[in-house]
Amino acid sequence: MTDCIFCRIGSHDIPSTVAYEDDKIIAFHDLEPQAPVHVLVIPKKHIESLDDVTEEDQELLGHIMFKIHEIAADLGLANGYRVVSNNGEDAFQTVKHLHFHILGKRKMTWPPG
Ligand code: ADP
Repeated sequence: MTDCIFCRIGSHDIPSTVAYEDDKIIAFHDLEPQAPVHVLVIPKKHIESLDDVTEEDQELLGHIMFKIHEIAADLGLANGYRVVSNNGEDAFQTVKHLHFHILGKRKMTWPPG
């Protein structure tokens, strides 16, 4: 069994509050929300970070980006939202499985910390 927590969420081995799912990706609510709405979108395929994508992942990455606006709309984020992907040490990526945060329902600040 994999010890990747997000792979295990993707296979429903670990429970999560699912916002969207299809055969390639799953979106679920973050356990420690940093905004009133905070959802993570991940590929079910294990990819550690954006540094690890390959040519064959192009369609999957496009699929994630394409679905984000539908997921955001379903979450009621008509007033805007932020999409963040922390990659590697300097960005404080703690879970080594590629993921995109969708944050919404509050005013964001810039630059991020
Ligand atoms: P950071 O922890 O610095 O935000 P990441 O970008 O790697 O770095 O984000 C990992 C995210 O995964 C965190 O927001 C964390 O709250 C969330 N998380 C970790 N475990 C779970 C889980 N089992 N279910 C939902 N969210 C989780």
